[in-house]
Amino acid sequence: MGKLKAAVASINTDALRHNIQKLHEQAPNSRLLAVVKANGYGHGLLEVAKNAEGADAFGVARIEEALQLRSGGIVKPVLLLEGFYSDSDLPILVTNNIQTVVHCEEQLIALEQAELENPVVVWLKMDTGMHRLGVRPEQYDEYIQRLHNCKNVAHPLRYISHFGCADEPDNPITSQQIELFQATTSKCEGERSIAASAGILSRSDSHFEWVRPGIIMYGVSPFDDNDAQQMGYRPVMTLSSHLIAVNDLKAGESVGYGANWVSERDTKIGVIAVGYGDGYPRTAPNGTPVWINGRKVPIAGRVSMDMLTVDLGPDASDEVGDLAVLWGESLPVEEVARYVGTISYELVTKLTSRVIPVYIKDAI
Ligand SMILES: *Cc1c(COP(=O)(O)O)cnc(C)c1O
Repeated sequence: MGKLKAAVASINTDALRHNIQKLHEQAPNSRLLAVVKANGYGHGLLEVAKNAEGADAFGVARIEEALQLRSGGIVKPVLLLEGFYSDSDLPILVTNNIQTVVHCEEQLIALEQAELENPVVVWLKMDTGMHRLGVRPEQYDEYIQRLHNCKNVAHPLRYISHFGCADEPDNPITSQQIELFQATTSKCEGERSIAASAGILSRSDSHFEWVRPGIIMYGVSPFDDNDAQQMGYRPVMTLSSHLIAVNDLKAGESVGYGANWVSERDTKIGVIAVGYGDGYPRTAPNGTPVWINGRKVPIAGRVSMDMLTVDLGPDASDEVGDLAVLWGESLPVEEVARYVGTISYELVTKLTSRVIPVYIKDAI
């Protein structure tokens, strides 16, 4: 037995750089606000930001994430994509030079009533049709006026919106959202942004001055019917572990909790040291692929907390200690997500703290 580590997430910073370069080619007239919320989509907030030299700014969802970037030495602009959640956040934004979205009247009033040392950079969010966050178009002018009159707001304002269906390229809502955003901001002097990954890839007319790539920057597709590698992006994360047992199983015998998989033939079962305690989904059904020794093998039996089991086949020569890739370069996370019935976003962000992150570069 060698010295093996269980679940490891290898993060290839050269792949990240490649993807950022590719994004600049894809949106050549736009600046890039790299979205690093949720621990950099599970890739490591600070490590991603430090290796994202080509990014022009960073987007996060929580003020704690913004502060982690600042205390980690990141000096580029940082934007709170959903804005601040309480009045007491405002002085922190000023002190740490953090930009904010304003999407509702409560945030506007907080800005109007605050006593701040310096003005805050504000992105006014418009609800162009997703109906999650944002000011309705018919109220947009009034908000612009009030923000213009507010001494705590830096000028010019910036304008932001978000697509609800850009991952469905034929959905007419996206065009309506672009037109509405374009029309409502046409007389505004500030910079605009509406496209996240799906918009960047499918609608060049949505790029405006800033694009906001999240998932595609990590080399994962926002669409459910293709893989990012087919579009020239490289997966940044590879989740792997090792075989800790290879056992014989007879035809008619079952494997694992609930005995929900029964072998039709004599075979060999591989036990891999990764489970839902690491963030691998327990809902991965029988048949979900795992990559071992150059081929895909199917999950056989329920995923448990620390282990999962695969059918290696009767002629398998795999051994304890062999590498198993759960997703990554050889096995797109998009494919695993399709089996699990979720989106890749959820798989990469749900890894737990038990998974060891390892930052690597391309072998030369
Ligand atoms: C998360 C998020 C993004 C990035 O979305 P992806 O689909 O991962 O590219 C962009 N903009 C906003 C407002 C977000 O919340």
